[in-house]
Amino acid sequence: MQIIGLNLEELEDLVVKLGEPRYRAKQILDWVYKKGIDDFGQMSNLPALFRQRLQDRGLVVSTITVAGAVEAGDGTKKYLFRLTDGCGVEAVYIPEEKRKTVCFSTQVGCPVGCTFCATGQQGFKRNLTAGEIVDQVRKIGLDKKTRISNAVAMGQGEPLANYAATLKALRLLNAEYGLQMAARHLTVSTSGVVPAIYRLADEQLQINLALSLHATTDQLRSALIPLNRTYPLAQVIQACRDYAAKTKRRVTLEYIMLDGVNDGEADLVRLAELAAGWLCHVNLIPYNPVPGASYRPSPPWVCQRFLGYLQEHGVAASIRQERGAEVNAACGQLRQHLKM
Ligand code: SF4
Repeated sequence: MQIIGLNLEELEDLVVKLGEPRYRAKQILDWVYKKGIDDFGQMSNLPALFRQRLQDRGLVVSTITVAGAVEAGDGTKKYLFRLTDGCGVEAVYIPEEKRKTVCFSTQVGCPVGCTFCATGQQGFKRNLTAGEIVDQVRKIGLDKKTRISNAVAMGQGEPLANYAATLKALRLLNAEYGLQMAARHLTVSTSGVVPAIYRLADEQLQINLALSLHATTDQLRSALIPLNRTYPLAQVIQACRDYAAKTKRRVTLEYIMLDGVNDGEADLVRLAELAAGWLCHVNLIPYNPVPGASYRPSPPWVCQRFLGYLQEHGVAASIRQERGAEVNAACGQLRQHLKM
């Protein structure tokens, strides 16, 4: 069993079962999250016998290890983590002047199968545990010797298809005894699991929601994101509007710009109509080509045309700055490259 992934109450119950007072749990979590120590032997304020008992019981702090990493000239660094069963998942560190962001994975592979995504082409293996999720962020902070300010569930997997573990991980990232990240700095990106969007809105957490929109008709969206056949566009947009109304958090509509696919004038007019009049922001994303997929990125002037039109029509919009293209920052590509 691993310590990362247990919340304070669960760890208190565990230490009490091992014959120690409850406060030992908080001491262990301080070592793990505040000091970045994984070895019970170094937790010097714990009795030596207790440290030994933890080890004898087969407990470990962490189970994921860094199997590879590549860093781009702009400081973006992509990590490949190896799990105990030999599977690999990726996470990306994105440094900016005012924030340090980690984009983390929630599943090994992905069941959604988006046609423009490297992970979607690799199939689905399993859900990650809460510990495997939160530890990606912690380990990257330790490697970069910095405080991670923002985290986004936008790596491999559909976070809302692994709801319980993802939510638990977000609570650990946010917890005072955990990584102490503000909830408003945490984002869940979904391809549109409608019932889970409503569930998330009821969690009483100020977490940001991002929707992988990418198309403005059901026909095209179903071709790009097969989940759209289960939860069509109108239902997904209504769920996002309800999320924004309930949480007062602005929803991000992610729109990957695909040349000749979703970047025509009619697409643009529909996109502006769909995003007008509610608390959302359109994020236009230059496409990062994936080996084996036939899509091409829209020319920069088309992205600018979209941006200008949306803003003229009162829609908050921006073009995502390309980061780390030389380290294949789109999800799934490092794992594919290293054949894991
Ligand atoms: S884009 Fe996201 S939801 Fe779609 S296949 Fe890739 S990882 Fe899964």
